[in-house]
Amino acid sequence: MSIKIQEQVPLAGLTSFQVGGPARYLVEVSTPDEVDEALQFAKEKALPIFILGGGSNLLVSDNGFTGVVIKPIAREVKIENNQIVAGAGVALVKLVLAAAEHGFSGLEWAMGIPGTIGGAVCGNAGAYGSSIDKNVSRVTAINLVSGEIKDFLVGECGFAYRSSFFKQTGEWLIWQAVLNLQPGKPEEIKALGKKYLDDRMSHQPKLPSAGCFFKNFTMEQLTATNPELVKQEAVQGASKGGKLGCGFLLERLGVKGMHVGGATVSPLHANFIVNENHATAEDIKTLAEEIKAKAQKELSVTLAEEVRMVGF
Ligand SMILES: Cc1cc2nc3c(=O)[nH]c(=O)nc-3n(C[C@H](O)[C@H](O)[C@H](O)COP(=O)(O)OP(=O)(O)OC[C@H]3O[C@@H](n4cnc5c(N)ncnc54)[C@H](O)[C@@H]3O)c2cc1C
Repeated sequence: MSIKIQEQVPLAGLTSFQVGGPARYLVEVSTPDEVDEALQFAKEKALPIFILGGGSNLLVSDNGFTGVVIKPIAREVKIENNQIVAGAGVALVKLVLAAAEHGFSGLEWAMGIPGTIGGAVCGNAGAYGSSIDKNVSRVTAINLVSGEIKDFLVGECGFAYRSSFFKQTGEWLIWQAVLNLQPGKPEEIKALGKKYLDDRMSHQPKLPSAGCFFKNFTMEQLTATNPELVKQEAVQGASKGGKLGCGFLLERLGVKGMHVGGATVSPLHANFIVNENHATAEDIKTLAEEIKAKAQKELSVTLAEEVRMVGF
């Protein structure tokens, strides 16, 4: 066996929230053969599997995960047939910069989003009106049960708002993604990426978080639950492309500054729960539940977590 199996590995340091207990087992994999070995190991132990990317969209329970965490660390970026091929473990930011170096434009919107390309494909990460499904041409993934390696064309990836077939089923490890980008001048691509990054830094909290905690709404969803709210001029004004930022609603709800233990709703962004002072996962979960209850009671809207809960 060539893989190194680590036991009782604290997950807090592997997540952007910096909370959470240990993984019973953690295995880093850099080849499909190693994935196979890790899958065999989990099968022999009859333990559940969790795939860890950059840990930037997760809330891991204080008790950790009592199974096998598999972390793809294939971090190669190649150019093949005028397309970029990136291993699942490539950091999104590094990918934007590598694309710029090779004169590929189209991913600049992702500058500053933490995490890996594997995680971005799984959750169809997006910002500034774009999302990764617009860049993906093909995804290679490995089935967690059979070990089958399969190529999925973009149309087979089941992409939807912050979702994909891979997220819905939880049955595949995304191994690599092929991206379709346009030719551009490296300096211009880098300058545009920096513009997005600067904008992000100007309004995003610096404390540990997992990004926006709750999903945005479509106006259709809101109309179904609270048609009066949708008619309001301010709500109409704040909606873009048929969507309303959840942060806008949470701001109106007055959640900024709400806290439980060391977890606080950022005063800078109402949809960011931040780990201000040694929060536990339980603090964060309880705070999220309080926000959900308040939104339901006062606005008749049901918030859905964008952050993935692990080990609860
Ligand atoms: C400060 C901050 C700002 C953020 N801004 C944005 C933003 O603007 N837009 C946005 O969409 N998100 C944003 N996020 C959230 C997060 O960065 C993205 O969702 C990111 O794409 C998650 O990638 P990850 O590698 O960290 O995945 P993880 O958090 O490790 O995992 C997320 C999910 O993806 C799955 N997964 C990860 N890798 C793989 C793989 N190789 N195969 C199969 N499944 C996999 C995991 O099992 C899990 O279900 C932000 C987060 C932070 C902390």
